[in-house]
Amino acid sequence: MFKEIFPNYSTPCGWNRMLAMRTPRSALKNDLTVDYVIVGAGYTGLAIARRLHELDPQARIAVFEASSVGEGSSARNSGFTGSEVLPRTVTLAGAEKARRQTALMREAFDWLAGIIARAGIECDLQKVGSIRAAATEAGEASLRQVAEVAKLNGISHTVLGRNEIAERIGSEYYRFGIYLNDTYLLQPAALIRGLADALPENVALYENTSVRRLKRNGGSWELLTDGGVVRARSVALANNGFIRRFGYLKCRMTTIFTYAAVTHPVAETELDHLGQSPAWGLLPSHRLGTTLRRIGRDRLMVRSLYAHEHEVPIDEVSAKLRDRFIRRWPGLRHVELEYVWGGATAFTMNGAPWWGKLEEGLFASGGCNGSGIAKGTMLGRHLAELMLGIGNPAKISSAMGTASLIAPEPFRSIGFRIVSAIESRKAGLEA
Ligand SMILES: Cc1cc2nc3c(=O)[nH]c(=O)nc-3n(C[C@H](O)[C@H](O)[C@H](O)COP(=O)(O)OP(=O)(O)OC[C@H]3O[C@@H](n4cnc5c(N)ncnc54)[C@H](O)[C@@H]3O)c2cc1C
Repeated sequence: MFKEIFPNYSTPCGWNRMLAMRTPRSALKNDLTVDYVIVGAGYTGLAIARRLHELDPQARIAVFEASSVGEGSSARNSGFTGSEVLPRTVTLAGAEKARRQTALMREAFDWLAGIIARAGIECDLQKVGSIRAAATEAGEASLRQVAEVAKLNGISHTVLGRNEIAERIGSEYYRFGIYLNDTYLLQPAALIRGLADALPENVALYENTSVRRLKRNGGSWELLTDGGVVRARSVALANNGFIRRFGYLKCRMTTIFTYAAVTHPVAETELDHLGQSPAWGLLPSHRLGTTLRRIGRDRLMVRSLYAHEHEVPIDEVSAKLRDRFIRRWPGLRHVELEYVWGGATAFTMNGAPWWGKLEEGLFASGGCNGSGIAKGTMLGRHLAELMLGIGNPAKISSAMGTASLIAPEPFRSIGFRIVSAIESRKAGLEA
């Protein structure tokens, strides 16, 4: 079991290593009193901080990040984002829920895109769309359902056959696909670093400073950190699956580790192997499947594998990711993986996040599952409003739902092992 207070990964983040070195902000070295504290400088935490500042510009705001920005999950992801939410079922109720979620996500995505533009954050944000692709008959059947729900919500999409997918990505591995044009791809480490570096001046960010405990003292909260005691009247927990380390939401979310790799550059003469599309992203039809991306002109990214609450030894991860890469591009079997890394996501049983007030002056948002760039931004932005007593919390809860109960240990781990064995078998070649 992964028992640390924050995710302390065994390998550095590949996206971060592809960028020039960044000097982290200083760690906390003394006691501190502020108005608002945010634990975690991922998409959720930084959105809370920025929105609090927008609404209460004089407030003293402090953000604590246990690692350095660029090494957390917000940098370790695959960089797919956007605002269009696909209904989960082909029902009118499902379609209506997805429309309400899309409206919230669109507002947050536009806000994020505005910050990126104004701050000049160079994170390669591009609207390239995404291909949902199936390698198996079952995968194809499930994608045909996706096409139906897309149609129900008026989401523009194009159905692709094997040859059309092969033309775009250079691999004949997939038999059926749907292209959705509302997906953006970006360099996640560049984005989260840019957002941290563009924080307004009176938002203090302390990196390499973990919050170890919190307790209520009279009308305020006291947080014990690596560098000193911090007092604040209001605290937001934005440390995702690790909120549980403070004793909250233990039966609402769990932590899943998943892995990614980026290849060495492919030789100029072999670029045709990467397809005719200069930029593309592919998402699997099965939830335990493999995500793929072309990066720049000459590299590929492969994301796959899942582990419950623990990291997998990196040699094992490398071998499995390499196998997935070679199965899809046998002609590139001589190309090695240059970066391999893992990251934690907070998984909830029903896919809904947990968002809201835990106690007087204590708030939390976590459990974005695999789509925290836009969702974390949206939830963080609205959590700041909740902290200030404005906004419409019922609108968020009714559109997003709330994380349902998960069985306690040891049943949770046993359940995860059983479900993942069954689902892995079902995923088959999608993995
Ligand atoms: C390999 C991979 C691929 C993914 N692909 C995508 C994708 O393509 N698109 C997408 O939208 N999402 C994707 N995700 C999910 C996405 O990364 C998460 O949903 C997102 O990072 C959640 O943001 P967050 O701010 O809520 O939490 P986090 O990014 O986890 O940020 C929480 C921060 O809190 C810090 N922290 C934890 N405990 C403490 C403590 N005690 N004190 C101080 N700091 C603490 C952590 O170090 C961390 O930086 C992927 C995830 C992984 C791992």
